[in-house]
Amino acid sequence: MSSGHEAAFWADEEVRLLDPGRTHVVRDSKTPSGPVPISGLRGPIISDALFRTFKAHGLDVRFVYTIDDYDPMDSQSMKERAGMAEHMGKPLCMIPSPDPSVGTDFADYHATRFVALFAGLGITPEFHRMRDLYRSGELDRQIDLVLRNAETIRQVHKRIANVDHPKGWLPVAVICENCGRIGTTLATDYDGKTVAYECKRDYVEWAEGCGRKGRISPFKGNAKLLWNEQWCAQWDHFNVTYEEGGKDLLTAGGSRERSNEIYREVFKKEPPPGLQHEFFTFGGKKMASSKGIGAEALEIVGIYPPELVRFLMLRTHPKRHLEFDPAGLTLPRLVDEYDRAADAYREDPETDLAKTWRLSQVSPTPAAPGFRVRFTTVANWLQIPSIKPEAEAEKEKGARLTDAELSDLHGRLELARAWLQRWAPDEARFEVLDKTPPVELTREQRRYLFAIKALVGKVHDAAEMQNQLYEVAKNVGLVKADGTPSQDAFAAIYLAFLGKPKGPRAGWLLLSIEPERVRRRLDDLGRAA
Ligand SMILES: [Zn+2]
Repeated sequence: MSSGHEAAFWADEEVRLLDPGRTHVVRDSKTPSGPVPISGLRGPIISDALFRTFKAHGLDVRFVYTIDDYDPMDSQSMKERAGMAEHMGKPLCMIPSPDPSVGTDFADYHATRFVALFAGLGITPEFHRMRDLYRSGELDRQIDLVLRNAETIRQVHKRIANVDHPKGWLPVAVICENCGRIGTTLATDYDGKTVAYECKRDYVEWAEGCGRKGRISPFKGNAKLLWNEQWCAQWDHFNVTYEEGGKDLLTAGGSRERSNEIYREVFKKEPPPGLQHEFFTFGGKKMASSKGIGAEALEIVGIYPPELVRFLMLRTHPKRHLEFDPAGLTLPRLVDEYDRAADAYREDPETDLAKTWRLSQVSPTPAAPGFRVRFTTVANWLQIPSIKPEAEAEKEKGARLTDAELSDLHGRLELARAWLQRWAPDEARFEVLDKTPPVELTREQRRYLFAIKALVGKVHDAAEMQNQLYEVAKNVGLVKADGTPSQDAFAAIYLAFLGKPKGPRAGWLLLSIEPERVRRRLDDLGRAA
């Protein structure tokens, strides 16, 4: 019995959290501290899907994306890289670029590489860099508010997360005037205009301060708010009303809960709601830019078409764990699922699967999907030189391909080529052998190969050929106990032409090779009795 409550599509459910009478701001962010693994796209794609859904429900909504480039370099793995040790603890935007032709500094380099993927994926937020917000003084009001309420904030950290900051601690990090580090400074004693600070040698494990002491204004880019307080300042500055996030930040006593509490107590505002997405793992491990686990986003996006990257992130409910490993049959299975979603969209665009398909398209208002050739079939076609994929696809469709269908086919051919080169398991690869291979066949198998010669040049339809191959198998006695043809029958065909016992659909394989060549091979290996 059904409980009577049908859960709405996850993105539609989030709409209910928002007051239709006001302007809404969805926010997402990235700290550009290294190459971003593919898991780093789950957040932006979910945020974009929500942004599109909110708009489609008639809400007035903006999508803001901040590049948190004033954060200190604190990654242990970076410390071990050549030339990096001296930059530990500096703001990411004040560390030299690995390649100035890509980005002006370390943060700009990594942010540029990551954010460059967005447009192609149909993600088009407003971008804001934290360095610009701090240096322009746009966050000075929030910095002053936080500093005046430092003791309240200290209590929140103690209460929510059991973190005990020393008395007099200020939730702000000053950039040391001597060594340029921001992660090593402790600030105290705000007098309304300046703070006292010390660049401490042993303040953090990942960087060593220079010992400088002094007073400085915390405004106009001289300092940044610490993580939780910066988060509140961003919500306040942009009037954020919705923000989803990864589960690691959202656990009890975690970063999000602390920020929520500070926002309520100090900023006197209600924090934005937002769902938390589950972990995205690679071979069972959590991906992290700092640890170098998992495929880099840049690499996967360079191979997978954008709608498939979006589909990968959206087909799994955000609250469910997503495990991804591009190797093996992952790609053919993903494309098959994508095709099922496209079929669902053609049938009824209001089903969950259909909505997932629509949100996976680069355009928010996509054209309906057309005829598609199954990915595995495309991969098989690629492995037979005599096959002309366009002609074969038209045969399969029974009509000419539209421009969109042709372009879809070309995309699939390219994807299948990449898959065969990088990820396909051995059983998916084959090659029609020029010469008769030295294979061992049973007497029945040889009789079978002799018998099917009669079909060559007479049957021209792949499905019909497949049927006839079954019938002949029965006639020569290659049947299982239940009367269906035994594996040995088709294995004989694969062994004869591919030199291995498995392959693509046999009927199709035989039709894809010139009849004269097929007959010669069957003569070589077949026996009348
Ligand atoms: Zn210093």
